Amino acid sequence: MDSIRIENLEVYAGHGVFPEETSNGQMFLVSAVLMMDLHPAGVSDELTLSTHYGEVCKFTNSYLRTHTFQLIEAATEQLAKAILLNFPLIRVLELELKKPHAPIGLPFSCVSVRIERGWKKVYLGIGSNIGDRKAYIEQALKRLGDREGIRRVRCSKLLYTKPYGGVKQEDFLNGAIELETLLTPYELLDFLHELEKEAGRERKIHWGPRTLDLDILFYEDFVSDDPRITIPHPDMENRLFVLEPLMELCPYYINPINQKSVKQMLKELQVSDGWKE
Ligand code: ATP
Ligand code: CA
Ligand code: CA
Repeated sequence: MDSIRIENLEVYAGHGVFPEETSNGQMFLVSAVLMMDLHPAGVSDELTLSTHYGEVCKFTNSYLRTHTFQLIEAATEQLAKAILLNFPLIRVLELELKKPHAPIGLPFSCVSVRIERGWKKVYLGIGSNIGDRKAYIEQALKRLGDREGIRRVRCSKLLYTKPYGGVKQEDFLNGAIELETLLTPYELLDFLHELEKEAGRERKIHWGPRTLDLDILFYEDFVSDDPRITIPHPDMENRLFVLEPLMELCPYYINPINQKSVKQMLKELQVSDGWKE
């Protein structure tokens, strides 16, 4: 990806574990790689199509001077998040914070923390089969769109589908959602559980009726087989109600487990269901 690089911006600020570090302050050096598409600015010579590195420097200086952290790990983490939220064209940010005068009591040249953070593309499955299904789904979409660290929320058409898994119950309203997030998969799942709780979701029977169900289908190319969070969603290949709405949002998205696109998985499922074109 294209990038703009800032090296060793000097900021005088008060981060540290010792009280004299917060009261007296010391010099910190910030380096950043702002990764984004620079082609539009390159061909147009138009600043608004790029990220103003001077503004990023001013923002960094002011952020580090108006917040106080004990750890440079925390300062770097929070500054990275603030930069990504305030400069939306940056997709990935590599950020390094150096503390050359850390009070170690031994000769050394520098200590530093370096992290990489960015916007991750995520696909969710959403479903409801109790009460006003559309209203539960619309409320969840609104809450997702309003959450800090989630942006560009886009929902597929909603489809009425027959219940899956053999439990006798009302038809479902199902869809898929695309979004970008700064949350980790675990933070995102916690938030989805919060939304299910707000909708009054009760877990009584597996695959039973529910006001709201939100599943993480894909999280970039992240793969996990931890039962607390299995990504990609393990059963998506067998579910028309997942693949059909996904087909509308991302037909060529590749499942990192089986290397098949959504389009291919849907086709194979339709063929095995005896579906005729
Ligand atoms: P299914 O996952 O087969 O669609 P379900 O959605 O009805 O079934 P739930 O009762 O909603 O199952 O979830 C059971 C647990 O699954 C949740 O507590 C959650 O921790 C875990 N889980 C694991 N992977 C995921 C994922 N990718 N998305 C959502 N929940 C997940
Ligand atoms: Ca589910
Ligand atoms: Ca679920």
